[in-house]
Amino acid sequence: MNKHIGSQALWVFITLLTLMSLAFAATYSPGKPIYAAKLLALDGLNEKQTQKTVNDWQQLGIQQIFALDHIYQLPEFRKQLAKTNIKPWLIHQTFFSNHNDLSQTPDWFAITETGQYAQDNSKEGNWLAMACPNNADYKQQSIERAVKQVKAWQPYGLSIDFIRYFAFWELSHVKGHEGYDGHNDPLIDSCFCDTCMQLFFQYLNMEKPKALTTPTQLASWIHDNKQDEWVNFKVQTITSMVKDLVTAVKQVKPDIKINIHAVPWLAGEHNNAVQRITGQSIKELAPYVDYVSPMAYAEMMLKPARWMHDLVIDMKQQCSNQCEVIPAFQVSEMYDSGEITEKEFQSYIREASKAPSAGVVFWPWETLTQQQKNYIKTLTR
Ligand SMILES: [Zn+2]
Repeated sequence: MNKHIGSQALWVFITLLTLMSLAFAATYSPGKPIYAAKLLALDGLNEKQTQKTVNDWQQLGIQQIFALDHIYQLPEFRKQLAKTNIKPWLIHQTFFSNHNDLSQTPDWFAITETGQYAQDNSKEGNWLAMACPNNADYKQQSIERAVKQVKAWQPYGLSIDFIRYFAFWELSHVKGHEGYDGHNDPLIDSCFCDTCMQLFFQYLNMEKPKALTTPTQLASWIHDNKQDEWVNFKVQTITSMVKDLVTAVKQVKPDIKINIHAVPWLAGEHNNAVQRITGQSIKELAPYVDYVSPMAYAEMMLKPARWMHDLVIDMKQQCSNQCEVIPAFQVSEMYDSGEITEKEFQSYIREASKAPSAGVVFWPWETLTQQQKNYIKTLTR
């Protein structure tokens, strides 16, 4: 009798354990990557096209969408997304001038170490012009735009892009390209405008040497005498803008998630260019952000697929436990990078989503081929 009760109890216990583990497996899936899509130029969508686009994302199992404000502002886009579980990020382009014609407000332009306006003059990069990260008026209008849009549209997250000093990093490794000087430092430093110089010498707590009058003279003196302080000042500038943006948008949507688009250089690479040139320090930014998304565009940067995993590990280390890393990767040819084969596409997904990655972002979504979409479906179903 006792033996019978004992075996019955054991059976009940095993059944309960099985049911519990099944329920646990259904609700908890450690390491399951987020599949997201970043849009580039999804312009002029009518109602029907919008429905089809959103339907496509659902069919593919895309869980998050990163969209610029000219897409996000379409009422139909928001209406269709609201019917789904897809989480929309609003991309905020911070120091990229697309919302401002800097030639009309030259004081807002960042100034390079050769005294030029911070714009790339190559045929590939001539879309890029960047504002001074210390210009109070520019910063204010940028923050006001983010707040207004977040308040009106209530996105899942704010994805902070162009949050850095000027650099056309996409092709900075290519010989013959603007900024390439044949040495190990093909990168142009900025910003040496009057505002930045005034703030930097205040930061140093010293008078600006009278002999230094031009941006070139100032840059040369700073590089020779105050390089560490200069990098710290640049990092502080970028970090404080993120802090100000995050504080402002959280006042109108307290639970908003924050992502930043990170320049894809490893810590220390190119003589610490990520901080020295762009002013981005993931370690300093980590307390303010939930996600960091390196622009891991391997094809254009002539990198192997495993480099994406290296970037994830590097950035996750800097995040510590404060933020997750979700790399975006290039799905189609850009800047004559060459076609992306199916094998490359699959290896990019594999390397980009390897732990400790939180997932992958396909970019630009609108150039995905049917074959690539079919492969994504096999992963998300
Ligand atoms: Zn400046």
